[in-house]
Amino acid sequence: MNKRVIIVGAGPAGIFCGLRLSEFIPGENITIIEKGKPIDKRNCPLLITGKCINCEPCSMISGWGGAGAYSDGKLNITGDVGGFLVDLLGEERFSSLVPEVLQYYFDHGSPRNLDNVSQDPQVADWSKKARLLGMKLVTFPIIHLGTDKTKEVLSNMYRTLSDRGVKVLFNSEVEAIITENNHVTGVKIKDGDSLESDYVVVAVGRSGADDVTRWVNQLHLSFGTNPVDLGVRVEVPAEVLLPMTDVLYEVKLEYYSHAFEDKVRTFCMNPGGEVVKEHLDDVITVNGHSYKEKFLPNTNFAVLVSTYFTEPFKDPVAYGKHIAKLANLLSGGIIVQRFGDLLNGHRSTPERIKRSIVTPSLKDSVPGDLNAVLPRRDLESIIEFLQLLDKFAPGVGSRDTLLYGVEVKFYSMRPELTNTLESEVQNLFMVGDGAGITRGLFQAAMAGLVVGDAIKERCL
Ligand SMILES: Cc1cc2nc3c(=O)[nH]c(=O)nc-3n(C[C@H](O)[C@H](O)[C@H](O)COP(=O)(O)OP(=O)(O)OC[C@H]3O[C@@H](n4cnc5c(N)ncnc54)[C@H](O)[C@@H]3O)c2cc1C
Repeated sequence: MNKRVIIVGAGPAGIFCGLRLSEFIPGENITIIEKGKPIDKRNCPLLITGKCINCEPCSMISGWGGAGAYSDGKLNITGDVGGFLVDLLGEERFSSLVPEVLQYYFDHGSPRNLDNVSQDPQVADWSKKARLLGMKLVTFPIIHLGTDKTKEVLSNMYRTLSDRGVKVLFNSEVEAIITENNHVTGVKIKDGDSLESDYVVVAVGRSGADDVTRWVNQLHLSFGTNPVDLGVRVEVPAEVLLPMTDVLYEVKLEYYSHAFEDKVRTFCMNPGGEVVKEHLDDVITVNGHSYKEKFLPNTNFAVLVSTYFTEPFKDPVAYGKHIAKLANLLSGGIIVQRFGDLLNGHRSTPERIKRSIVTPSLKDSVPGDLNAVLPRRDLESIIEFLQLLDKFAPGVGSRDTLLYGVEVKFYSMRPELTNTLESEVQNLFMVGDGAGITRGLFQAAMAGLVVGDAIKERCL
């Protein structure tokens, strides 16, 4: 019980690991190291003034709560989306952890109302309609915290941990993992000391993907490759999807394109929400969010194409960044284009955007041409999918539908892990989005619990 644990990163994976561990290890033995700021100091200029000033590290995705802190807080209670934990843990273990993850959220102030839509007769009709069009409607229970409640829940979790004596070092970036004879022994903080530890849990999220790559290489760990998900954020009048979003909140559709047989899907739908910029190192990409308390005129969602690379190419993250940088090069940031202009092969201009019935919610997006940015295999799949979606929900494929580019979802390099998420170095665990095994709040949180339990078993 006197073992020391260092958790690198204070996103949901790191926080849930800390919550679990502090139930049986004295809090003083647990240190969370986070390169960002405390939650009440995470003031993202983009959200306050509408202007990004490229903070380092980016307050949008770094600090207490990780990338999830400003998120819409949709807890997707499923193994079908948001990560690969089912593959690693097995169905039974995954299912047994579901109520436990929820309980931590409830205990810290999350609403308890679970939207379970599968029983709704309308949903059965929509599923059938999707099938007839060759698509799959994916449904599962969701809890929607909303941006404001997410912050409150995260603050409550911080309070629990500090009441238990857990140390949190903010503005501290881990630069190296220290090992001896294939055992982890501590970490080295950038421009700072080395800290010794019996266990290290790497929970650095997507913003720490480059760190994971470096550590995997330095420690000679085996790894597999993940796909890169590349596409656009789509914005339509909220009315277009309202009958479905009112019931489903998020309309998750999957499809394999005829053009390339690549998987195309809708992702992260925000009814009545707004499109936002996201900074990842030196790249600007697009994302979306919504508020629990206010409903804006548009609904946005991503359309993403998954691309898997084969030998010899092993760097999907670099590929995704390269495409996003191209959009940045042409526009200085994010390009916006009407779907009609994309189909007609000409750029959108400020005048054409003004004529659109959809007013862009991302004010500093630049009218341009996504034909000049996206690779053919992505673009054709996106067009095919949007045209099909228009048959599913008329209006989605309208001339005035806005497309923002580019949206990229990177999976980090995926080190080989056991079913307790331990790496090939003993007592070095890797969890969450940073380990390439999750892609959402719920599974990231669950991964934290898995590691907490694994360490507990060794300590007993
Ligand atoms: C705008 C936005 C909206 C989203 N909306 C949703 C949603 O509604 N539902 C959903 O399920 N998911 C959503 N997501 C995704 C979700 O936030 C992530 O999947 C989740 O936060 C991953 O958790 P994590 O703990 O693995 O990593 P993160 O949350 O990314 O946390 C990692 C932390 O580690 C820190 N860190 C990185 N490197 C180092 C280092 N070297 N040293 C010290 N600290 C380091 C980072 O600063 C960060 O705070 C959203 C993401 C974004 C950006």
